[in-house]
Amino acid sequence: MRLLLIEDDPELVAYMRTDLSKAGFAVDVADNGIDGEFLGDNEPYDAVVLDLGLPQKSGLEILAAWRKRSNRVPVIVLTARDAWYERVDGFKAGADDYLGKPFHIEELIARIRALIYRRHGSPTNSIETKTLRLDEDSQQVSVADQEPHQLTGTEFRLLRYMMLNRGKILSKSNLSDHVYDQDSDRDSNLIEVYVRRLREKIGNQMILTKRGQGYVFNDPS
Ligand code: CA
Repeated sequence: MRLLLIEDDPELVAYMRTDLSKAGFAVDVADNGIDGEFLGDNEPYDAVVLDLGLPQKSGLEILAAWRKRSNRVPVIVLTARDAWYERVDGFKAGADDYLGKPFHIEELIARIRALIYRRHGSPTNSIETKTLRLDEDSQQVSVADQEPHQLTGTEFRLLRYMMLNRGKILSKSNLSDHVYDQDSDRDSNLIEVYVRRLREKIGNQMILTKRGQGYVFNDPS
């Protein structure tokens, strides 16, 4: 899952970027409203964390502009803790959720996960298919009742995206878009390498190759 963080406080950005990356998100950052609006319109983010007070263009203006253009990316706005009117304004402009500053990063991560799961029609905050269980906190995958496998950061991001989009054909470039941030090396051959490693851990039959098109995650049992 790939996030856009639009926030102009460099200390807060540094801290959030580290913790969000550890939690398995590829994170792009914009420190002003103009760049943030542009990125949110042009990159396929799974969610946006949007500060309201920003240089050049306010968070509310950005959000209203996106919604007017039918950009429905899930957005969590960061508001002042006691400013109820900011929350109301945020929802009116099309926010999906809000969090008052200062906040605990664990709460932000929980809210981002909940938002993404809701968008994918998942009723609970865990990712399971008939035989696989992916644990978000430990970044481990279990196959049936066997011992869990530890996943690397990239393996975890890739498998989570595939499991949330099960049954769909996912091209290598689509997978790169949701697994890597803007500054990463986007060599799509790397996706092949990671798919091979995932197959070694969860079994060949779970990820089908559609020649010339991409991959489909499928739990056949
Ligand atoms: Ca700010």
